[in-house]
Amino acid sequence: MYGRRETEDLYQILEVPRDASAPEIKKAYRRLVRKYHPDANPGNREAEEHFKKVSQAYEVLSDSSKRAQYDQFGTVGDAGGGSPFEGFNGMGDIFGDIFDSVFGGGMGGRRRADPNAPRRGSDLEMEVRITLLEAATGITREFQVPRWEPCETCGGSGARAGTSPEVCDQCGGRGQVETQQRTPFGQFVSVNPCPKCGGAGKVVKEKCPDCNGQGRTRKKRTVEVRIPAGVDTGTRLRISGEGEPGTNGGSPGDLFLAVSVADHPDFERDGGDLHTRLTITFPQAALGSTVTVPTLEGERESLTIPAGTQPGKVFTLRGRGITRLRGPRGKGDLHVHVTVDIPAKLTDRQRALLEELAREMNVEVESSGVFSKFFRNLFDS
Ligand SMILES: [Zn+2]
Ligand SMILES: [Zn+2]
Repeated sequence: MYGRRETEDLYQILEVPRDASAPEIKKAYRRLVRKYHPDANPGNREAEEHFKKVSQAYEVLSDSSKRAQYDQFGTVGDAGGGSPFEGFNGMGDIFGDIFDSVFGGGMGGRRRADPNAPRRGSDLEMEVRITLLEAATGITREFQVPRWEPCETCGGSGARAGTSPEVCDQCGGRGQVETQQRTPFGQFVSVNPCPKCGGAGKVVKEKCPDCNGQGRTRKKRTVEVRIPAGVDTGTRLRISGEGEPGTNGGSPGDLFLAVSVADHPDFERDGGDLHTRLTITFPQAALGSTVTVPTLEGERESLTIPAGTQPGKVFTLRGRGITRLRGPRGKGDLHVHVTVDIPAKLTDRQRALLEELAREMNVEVESSGVFSKFFRNLFDS
């Protein structure tokens, strides 16, 4: 504004490469909004400022024509000023966009210039909780996905049988209206969805009774999904084309499944590796033994405990972990952490044998035997 072009790169603000796809930009935006949202950072001015920048950057980069303009000129709007954010509609619009994209907004966010242009359907996201065993083996699941489907009665037009929608007389079918606004910062032209037709460009005079003129109905659709072996909490699976249907012949959105894996009482997971605890007795640790270790799949794996094994020793069973989705191919390992059980109760004979062992090892123990008691009393007095 004062002749100095201090532009911040919108791609850097959204932390995406310049060739990022539209879904990548949307994903980055959602992540950053969660991170910098004022509700998540009460009283943090810096976060609030950055939150605004993120919103404004998304406003440009999510709109293909604004993005193209920005890529070419490094600015949006015709003011020729320093800020890449000029020519915007103001905060109301920005927040409306956030609500659309963050809080579901299956109804389809911003309106495009041409209401009859094909538009891709919105993406849907669902959460799926699975057990650790299911994560290890993979599983096929059916999901009930609620989404909009074109109304069968009116074929999607929203008009009662025998009638058809008419071109909106307020916007002349363009779906948008322009309003001039004077503000202390200058004059702005804001483009808003037409209030009469809601941006559709057409008005339904007689509504289809089955969809109430909406042209679509909410339906539950069964989608079968193969969840591959190796998924972990945080894995997002994309099921292409199973999101909301597109409009005007646009392609459907995608369905995203956010996986979360429940904790297992006996196995702890670390990527492809599993950790479990094995309790052995003192004689087994001292003399050596062959024991069996339960695997996650419920099999029993044989494990040789060498003589003189110490508590805390970790044995590794190669390839008995979980399929790795990252790093080297194949399965991870099962790590068996050994604990040596100290009996809390002893039979008389066990006690006698241990006391004898103690004497043999020349260690002083709390003893029930008359012999050692006599010596202890002698030292204590
Ligand atoms: Zn209908
Ligand atoms: Zn209109």
